[in-house]
Amino acid sequence: MAASQLFNSLLCNPNTPISPPPHHQLRRTTIKCTTTSPPSSSTFNTPSVPPRQPLNLFSAKYVPFNSISSNTPTSESYSLDEVVYRSSSGGLLDVQHDVAALKQFDAHYWKSLFDSRVGKTTWPYGSGVWSKKEWVLPEIDSDDIVSAFEGNTNLFWAERFGKKYLEMNDLWVKHCGISHTGSFKDLGMTVLVSQVNKLRKMKSSTPLVGVGCASTGDTSAALSAYCAAANIPSIVFLPANKISMAQLVQPIANGAFVLSIDTDFDGCMRLIREVTSELPIYLANSLNSLRLEGQKTAAIEILQQFDWEVPDWVIVPGGNLGNIYAFYKGFKMCQELGLVDEIPRLVCAQAANANPLYLYYKSGWNEFHPSKASKTFASAIQIGDPVSIDRAVFALKNSNGIVEEATEEELMDAMALADSTGMFICPHTGVALTALIKLRKSGIIRPTDRTVVVSTAHGLKFTQCKIDYHSKEIKDMACRFANTPVQVKDDFGAIMDVLNNYLDTRAS
Ligand SMILES: *Cc1c(COP(=O)(O)O)cnc(C)c1O
Repeated sequence: MAASQLFNSLLCNPNTPISPPPHHQLRRTTIKCTTTSPPSSSTFNTPSVPPRQPLNLFSAKYVPFNSISSNTPTSESYSLDEVVYRSSSGGLLDVQHDVAALKQFDAHYWKSLFDSRVGKTTWPYGSGVWSKKEWVLPEIDSDDIVSAFEGNTNLFWAERFGKKYLEMNDLWVKHCGISHTGSFKDLGMTVLVSQVNKLRKMKSSTPLVGVGCASTGDTSAALSAYCAAANIPSIVFLPANKISMAQLVQPIANGAFVLSIDTDFDGCMRLIREVTSELPIYLANSLNSLRLEGQKTAAIEILQQFDWEVPDWVIVPGGNLGNIYAFYKGFKMCQELGLVDEIPRLVCAQAANANPLYLYYKSGWNEFHPSKASKTFASAIQIGDPVSIDRAVFALKNSNGIVEEATEEELMDAMALADSTGMFICPHTGVALTALIKLRKSGIIRPTDRTVVVSTAHGLKFTQCKIDYHSKEIKDMACRFANTPVQVKDDFGAIMDVLNNYLDTRAS
């Protein structure tokens, strides 16, 4: 057989039915065996058999965010199948779940249901997001879900960093960035792209031709990957020269239509909003509250990993500020449904070069001023006009929260120190660690407090700034913890001299 024939025979012929992949077979059986009648009382708590619940018992819809934050009932709501990003008054929307329906099942039921799904291959529940499907997007058909089995990330006991630098024994780093595209944006993107996938299969007068986003890097990487997996066109607006090479290469490799625009993130955001109001392109920015439903599962997962013990503090780096709210929402939902009886205090950590929330907090929540963000190594949070400002303020006020900031030197030093204890974190996690260091120094976070720092992206996406730091090539920065490689001649004696010298300094 000629090579081209062989190649053709490997390609799928649209006329011959192909056998479904293994997870399709799993899907069918899963759906069959989970179709059972609902327990009638709220004391359903004996899952000696694997927990089950019927399909389509739960539901969710969009409501104006301010009806939630001001706790005023509203008649305004939209189906999640509608393409709508703003309320009638132009405010943010929020996904509201039918909590009464969820409450028919007690905390014990939910805990064992979630626990039963961890680490399995059953579609789609093996994903850390879809293992909480009933709390995320309850009505979507499993066959419409686009997932890379994101989530289920390591909650790392940062023993050495905690003990050595902070006299803490109960410090944890939630490595959300060890994920399919290297950032925690995967958590929300699987939800958004799944919903778009469903909408595109539904009959509509204006079918969605694609999905678009403005991005500081990680959102576009996640969007492109999930869209590519589902064969949905993705269009990304990136600020020219403001994101790392590793972030830029991802949407390119995944086949997105990439527009490099000579502006900053806030400029890209304005443009994509205008474009998506003109064209049937679905907006994938976190203005879209669907994404936050996925992001919130990281909070639920933290509680689950601690066997439903509530940590004292959770520190999240913030830029566009959807995520600080998503964490709040995840924790709050666990409290409302009785899985825990309190929520952690939240800390939002900002780069000093992009700190409008910090300034607002420091003014006693007096006046908010969007700003022009300056360049920061924490490029994913280089945002001066955060879309989710209202969400963040609500989350912080209701969690006795705090906002901290980190200068470029502080965040790079914190990153270097963390790396020297065996982690390999991104600059945003450096911002969060700086907040922790400051709050430890001021005594607000105590040595015995159980504290979780959310690590939001993989360090390997940000190698250039690490190289510059360790070569002490950053302007106006001492790079105090740089570990500079030693240049040595190809000579045994020279190498022995250098090594002996090194071993002496280590011994002293
Ligand atoms: C998006 C992002 C954040 C911040 O999330 P916001 O919701 O924009 O506040 C932090 N770190 C990384 C790596 C991100 O990609």
